[in-house]
Amino acid sequence: TLTLGIVGLPNVGKSTLFNALTKADVLAANYPFATIEPNVGIVPLPDPRLDKLAELFDSVKIVPAVVSFVDIAGIVKGASEGAGLGNKFLATIREADAICQVVRVFADDDVIHVDGRVDPMADIETINTELILADMQTLEKAIPRLEKEARMQKDRRAVLEVAVAAQAVLDSGRTLFSAQKTIDLAVLKELSLMTTKPFLYVFNADESVLTDDARKAELKAAVAPADAVFLDAKVEYELLELDDESALELLESVGQEEPGLHALARAGFHTLGLQTYLTAGPKESRAWTIKQGATAPQAAGVIHSDFEKGFIKAEVISYDDLVAAKTIAAARSAGKARIEGKDYVMHDGDVVEFRFNV
Ligand code: GDP
Repeated sequence: TLTLGIVGLPNVGKSTLFNALTKADVLAANYPFATIEPNVGIVPLPDPRLDKLAELFDSVKIVPAVVSFVDIAGIVKGASEGAGLGNKFLATIREADAICQVVRVFADDDVIHVDGRVDPMADIETINTELILADMQTLEKAIPRLEKEARMQKDRRAVLEVAVAAQAVLDSGRTLFSAQKTIDLAVLKELSLMTTKPFLYVFNADESVLTDDARKAELKAAVAPADAVFLDAKVEYELLELDDESALELLESVGQEEPGLHALARAGFHTLGLQTYLTAGPKESRAWTIKQGATAPQAAGVIHSDFEKGFIKAEVISYDDLVAAKTIAAARSAGKARIEGKDYVMHDGDVVEFRFNV
């Protein structure tokens, strides 16, 4: 499974957010005796469509898609030089598939800010600079080796070329992910660089910011095209201890319509480049996780590898069409059931039944 690594300066609310994520952990809740890594939180991807399908098909259970977050020890200025938990931090973050950066926007005189002031954009700059510096060091070491290899083997020339181009991007203060249109990130994969990963920003805010649409729009624009999520980490934790009605009241009091963890799960899923398709029946209504752009056979392979190997075709009904028709039979007679072949690219909201040879 793909994971998002949670990073941020000290005292921005990472642990508070992570505690909320582990309290919402689907695995911990469903399998209390399973061993789960202490630094991993696996939360459900909220999807109201599953409830609707379960109602239509009288499903025994609902199985949502999940999103995994990994807690990474705090980053500090100088991490790229091995300050603080620098090296351990960098090693863990290399293993994550995306970076979830927690940024403090809440004001609280009792919580010390490492740089003595609440300035979200400066904090983002600090973290991103550390990541860029770490990648520059990696490239500085790698390039002489790649030059040697390129002299011996023609096929290594491409890697060297891309590595040199990447160095120029980093020198200009930009992340490699932001240059993905000009730099082939896949070629750089072997170097485990950090800024090639997509970023997601979580603004840990208090009520004054959560209810301030202009301020939120400004922060959102500052990190675009990366996803931005606004939440109050302390409130998120408290919400999980309340019944639905009290939770809703608490949310409304801070100007939110839904728990921030829901928005975070969706943004995390999106940032990882994932999407879902749905299956529905009396046994279960379920969301299956696939890569954005996956084809029908690849989607079938998520259920079972034999489904991919023996793929014949997929019967696909769009969620809205199925809800309108109420049953698969009715959707078929209304001409809403499509038969798709092996080149079909899956769409979000496809409700699918696969036909395959065993
Ligand atoms: P970390 O160092 O980034 O893991 O930060 P912590 O989660 O330990 O939070 C540092 C302090 O800030 C703790 O005292 C938290 O209770 C407090 N804190 C975290 N989130 C919020 C928030 O949204 N609002 C306020 N006022 N305090 C918070």
